[in-house]
Amino acid sequence: MLRLLIDGHWIESADGRSIDSVNPANGKVIGSVAAAGAGEVRLAVAAARRAFEGWEAVPGRERAALLRAIADGVEVRRDALAALETRDNGKPLAESFGDVDDTIACFRFYAGLADDLDGGDRAVLAVPDSRFSASVETMAVGVAAQIIPWNYPLLMAAWKVAPALAAGATMVLKPSELTSLTALELGRIAQDAGLPRGVFNILTGYGGEAGMSLVEHRDVDKVAFTGSAATGAKIMAAAAPDIKNVSLELGGKSAILIFDDVDIEVAVEWIMFGVFWNQGQVCSATSRLLVDESIADRLLARLVTEVAAIRIGSGLDPDVTLGPLISAAQRDRVAGFVDRAREQGVELLAGGGVPPHLDAGFFYEPTILFQPPVDAEIWTEEVFGPVLAVRCFRTEEEAVALANCSDYGLAAAVLSRDAARCERVARAFRAGVVWINCSQPTFCEAPWGGLKRSGVGRELGAWGLAQYREVKQITRYCSDTPWGWYIRPR
Ligand code: NAD
Repeated sequence: MLRLLIDGHWIESADGRSIDSVNPANGKVIGSVAAAGAGEVRLAVAAARRAFEGWEAVPGRERAALLRAIADGVEVRRDALAALETRDNGKPLAESFGDVDDTIACFRFYAGLADDLDGGDRAVLAVPDSRFSASVETMAVGVAAQIIPWNYPLLMAAWKVAPALAAGATMVLKPSELTSLTALELGRIAQDAGLPRGVFNILTGYGGEAGMSLVEHRDVDKVAFTGSAATGAKIMAAAAPDIKNVSLELGGKSAILIFDDVDIEVAVEWIMFGVFWNQGQVCSATSRLLVDESIADRLLARLVTEVAAIRIGSGLDPDVTLGPLISAAQRDRVAGFVDRAREQGVELLAGGGVPPHLDAGFFYEPTILFQPPVDAEIWTEEVFGPVLAVRCFRTEEEAVALANCSDYGLAAAVLSRDAARCERVARAFRAGVVWINCSQPTFCEAPWGGLKRSGVGRELGAWGLAQYREVKQITRYCSDTPWGWYIRPR
């Protein structure tokens, strides 16, 4: 059983409970991790609290050097980490390599921001009273609880741990109980890099137990959560009594708009990448396709042909581009959405079932459903699987209105050869992430997050660092003349 990382030591949970890690490609157990309880949460938060003052006082440049050493450690173990991610999560190996490379880039990017923190965050403010001078600077937020999902196990850890380390915060990370293995490896790499004990603690365990105790802990200053909107709502409520600083990266039901002037082949490629990449288990998946009705027949015919050619199987097979879903429960959930849509009379253009040749593992076919009603759950709810819902539109206004008519506001994409139209539509989208003539590419320099039920706050870029820094203004009275409100000058 893999242990918990608390205060620089690898320890078992007090009651010895464990959680199996399962390879979703074949359903076989590949290891087990400790299930932390409230006692381990108390130990980990106390360790992070003890480490905070010292870590915050480390100059930004020295913290940056440690972040770069972690990036180097990830790079050295690139092959092993990618293979482990595919075995634990199921995603095709090429995608796991992409995640590892993005993890390295994320640590290096935040090392650059940590370099600039030694005074670089101070600014003088212009105030309209010459008796005063005012300045602003930032300080580390304190102890952060970081809770992450299973769809990008290593990368989501990097998105949380790298900016927090750069900012001088200390943290307790809780990975998903379904995919803890690469996060634990990251802990080992950070230790090898020389990170002081207690700065970065890792608790594996169940959400309702270890996760909730962590959020409720009085000595946690900041809660950073990525996961479903339903859990995000519980976390926001649990953080409310202490008025904790909360950031939430939640789900989505993002639209991709295809206008009549596109190259069909180019459009089909981005539509597929937008919804089948990572088996569609992507918060920003563009899972609602809106296509100009004048090209719908041609575009859908080509899309169905290409989807039929997708190679499904174990992510370790280099020819596979669609791996298994994370679990049997997730596959059944996805199947439920598709089955209910069909029962409502929504037309099935492709997929719609478990691939017949794959009886072990948690596979589901890439699926396309045509013209669901706008209030059908397949059009409004996040499926989190390889399922695309398609509707046609006649005008730009109608397309934008349909795209924005969602409880979510994470991402949106527009494809057209008309640059002015793309810019106009991009501005009209009510979403935190917008793609023009592509879908999904993400850079750690750019902010990530959404509005409405997609969350609160932004990760990545300077915005991600700001999640772990509190703003402090310092106002100085510089005049020799007494203030003279209660005590009048004689
Ligand atoms: P989830 O909400 O079920 O779980 C996420 C994490 O929260 C896990 O670590 C889980 O153990 C923990 N958790 C569960 N219940 C908890 C509770 N009551 N208290 C504290 N912690 C709890 O989500 P998931 O199924 O792991 O991930 C899929 C979801 O994540 C999707 O909705 C997806 O859109 C979202 N997601 C969002 C982003 C983003 O950046 N916006 C990125 C990736 C995934």
